[in-house]
Amino acid sequence: MVRLMKFILSKELGRLAKWLRILGFDAVYYNQDNLSSLIIQALRDERIILTRNQRLPQARGIKIVLIKNEKIKKQVAEILKTLKIKPEPEIMFSRCILCNAQLMDIAKEKVKDKVPEYVFKTQGYFITCPKCQRIYWQGTHWGNVTQTLKEIGSSV
Ligand SMILES: [Zn+2]
Repeated sequence: MVRLMKFILSKELGRLAKWLRILGFDAVYYNQDNLSSLIIQALRDERIILTRNQRLPQARGIKIVLIKNEKIKKQVAEILKTLKIKPEPEIMFSRCILCNAQLMDIAKEKVKDKVPEYVFKTQGYFITCPKCQRIYWQGTHWGNVTQTLKEIGSSV
């Protein structure tokens, strides 16, 4: 598989960071104002900077993608188009939406007290975040995401 792109997003792009994680990308959300430290982190980890901030200083060896749209769906469409990304089902939902960590399988019996009863009864496969311990399953969320991708003309 092609090496995946890694991102760092400036603070006005929190929702886009979550979307990139849903799509399976390593996306760090930088929610502070110190832009030089953002650039240092991008250089160190070889991350592409996504930002709406036009005053971000250019630096050698740095790739900055300026996001033009304001609405989240349009931003997702924009980034997929600009970077020629095609959503891949194999890597989608492989990262925690909240903390960007790689999710791991967890046995069904271990989540019994951690998910709603109807979810436990109807779902067979669960994954968890090693950092925040959040439990994920392929519920309605999955449907909403594929629906949104379809809307913006990027079906999975
Ligand atoms: Zn997490």
